[in-house]
Amino acid sequence: MRYIDEYQDGDKAREIAAQIAEVVGEPLAFMEVCGTHSHAVARYGLSEMFPEQLRLISGPGCPVCVTPPEVIDAGIELAREGIWLAIFGDMMNVPGSQGSLSEVQAQGGQVRVIYSPMQAVEWAQENPHEQVVFMGVGFETTAPSVAVGISEANELGLKNFTVLVAHRLIPPAMEALVSQPDVRIDGFLCPGHVSAIIGSKPYQPLADRGIPCVIAGFEPVDVLQAVYMLARMCQQGEARVMIQYRRVVRAEGNPIAREKVAEVFEVADCRWRGLGMMPDSGLRLREKYRDFDAEARFALDLQAAPEPPGCECGAVLRGAKRPTDCGLFGTACLPDHPIGPCMVSSEGACAAVYQYEAVRDGNR
Ligand code: SF4
Repeated sequence: MRYIDEYQDGDKAREIAAQIAEVVGEPLAFMEVCGTHSHAVARYGLSEMFPEQLRLISGPGCPVCVTPPEVIDAGIELAREGIWLAIFGDMMNVPGSQGSLSEVQAQGGQVRVIYSPMQAVEWAQENPHEQVVFMGVGFETTAPSVAVGISEANELGLKNFTVLVAHRLIPPAMEALVSQPDVRIDGFLCPGHVSAIIGSKPYQPLADRGIPCVIAGFEPVDVLQAVYMLARMCQQGEARVMIQYRRVVRAEGNPIAREKVAEVFEVADCRWRGLGMMPDSGLRLREKYRDFDAEARFALDLQAAPEPPGCECGAVLRGAKRPTDCGLFGTACLPDHPIGPCMVSSEGACAAVYQYEAVRDGNR
């Protein structure tokens, strides 16, 4: 299959790995800011193809993982009060400080997994005597479809549909990450799906600070090509924004999707799990759509909630620790008994390392 076989070709991968080795001299650390990249790196053992001076570190690229526990707690509180909750599947087992949504569902709470925000709108339409809250979690990739759902609910005049808005924006988090004193980042592997919406321009401030950025696809050859492009820029003392994932990403992104988001949402300061409060790093509803704000309608008080004891998800999400540095990894914290979100989500770094690397290393 074109676009798949071509980017999974082992010979091509080894050829690029050899080119990477030729251009890497000084120690380099590149961060991948997308959970799907973390899984590709772990699944195909790509780190083992790099020279030892080159390290790839995972960042906060899993939307479920960076959602702070107080948002999960708010969902739990709503479901316990009899409000119907529509969520994306990855949210089901993420632990808040009061348990998880799957536990509330098992106790009889109305928690339904949906695949698009429009399903939540339809659920509300079909059940006019119930209050339906959709948990709007995700990055720039998800926000357009949530904006469309809210806009549709507005046109339908739905009074029983609201959204618990927890969208986060990737470029402000990247800017915060390069300011950390304890984490060295020489370049970013930028997320392909997010970039299909936002384009390449939002990464330019990072390049202006001397950090090269390459927007990468998700097959092994994509990742290796992007790493080569980063390593070569470092070798040549350049810092630009480049697009490796040209079959999907345009420099201008998707203006129609961005317009829809801008119509419904505005940028706001937000708290991220592991990274704390960051300016302009999330979204909130514009005044015109505030009737659809679950936080306001149900007077939710989203105060910072504690992380699970011993869980190092915060350090993992900002690249300061690897999943295996966590004392709970593979012992108390397992995919079927997760302590932190990074072991739950299909995009979580701990889940990726457990699923692929621990198997290869014979630790499972
Ligand atoms: S192994 Fe589990 S507890 Fe440790 S950082 Fe990962 S998700 Fe958190």
